[in-house]
Amino acid sequence: MPNVPSIVLNNSVEIPQLGFGVYQIEPDKVRSATERALNAGYRHIDTAAAYANEAGVGEAVRNSGIPRDEIFITTKLRNADQGYESTLRSFERSSHELGLEVIDLYLIHWPYPRHNLFVGSWKALEKLYADGAVRAIGVSNFLQPHLERILTEGDIIPAVNQIELHPTFQQTELTEYSVAHGIAVESYSPLGQGQDLSGTVVKEIAAAHGKSPAQVVLRWHLQRGFIVIPKSISAQRVQENIDVFDFSLSQDEVALINGLESGLRTSGDPATFDFPQI
Ligand code: NAD
Repeated sequence: MPNVPSIVLNNSVEIPQLGFGVYQIEPDKVRSATERALNAGYRHIDTAAAYANEAGVGEAVRNSGIPRDEIFITTKLRNADQGYESTLRSFERSSHELGLEVIDLYLIHWPYPRHNLFVGSWKALEKLYADGAVRAIGVSNFLQPHLERILTEGDIIPAVNQIELHPTFQQTELTEYSVAHGIAVESYSPLGQGQDLSGTVVKEIAAAHGKSPAQVVLRWHLQRGFIVIPKSISAQRVQENIDVFDFSLSQDEVALINGLESGLRTSGDPATFDFPQI
């Protein structure tokens, strides 16, 4: 089994640095996909209320035979449920779907800023944390102005900011701001949804190490200190994406990949992203 290192969050909770994302895995396929990931050695699963697949993730985790405290589960609050009271109700639904007593990490999925509810949602996350229902709380897709409001109006500093981050879209300023405030950066769409795997730089580095482009990109995230949650439904790729602990990139190779920034956002812009169903 690969030995996945952990990152220590700002409240001392440890999160495996590499996890398995289940976005867009259909409800009837997610149980087997999660089982494949657990069998391959992943001990960190990233889901969300909006993915409509929490139940299958929970089933796989509960039936895995792996002690509950060895698996780290993240889920997220959907936009339509933002606001203090509705966040508490939404969390209950997520816990029920997952069938787990305690959730390891609960995130506000998007700031959804036009509705201006995220500070109230954050206060609800703080209550869930104080009650022991979650081991850590954080945010996702938060830009600096959204983080600033949480830092000034909230009592707890988010443990994590999960943001789109891959070689062609690195969000360097946001990353530096997050880290400077003790907020761990978690890269979503870490492979650029597959689009960052075909460039010459990544392919040449991969050939030099006898590794795949995906493994090189994941290695880059790990060496940059990011938490990373690639997704795949193919057994071979699930295995490939965790087989990244037997080689390392040189500083020059990391720098070459740092140079691939091109502003290629594949997901929504958090400043305007406004879909209640997510
Ligand atoms: P990703 O960058 O992980 O890319 C996934 C795609 O890349 C796969 O569908 C497959 O086509 C390809 N791929 C995967 N492994 C490969 C390999 N070894 N070789 C070649 N191709 C490979 O993108 P993602 O699914 O968008 O993101 C991963 C996870 O991040 C999601 O499952 C979800 O958990 C999370 N996420 C969060 C948000 C958010 O708003 N917080 C948004 C998007 C994704």
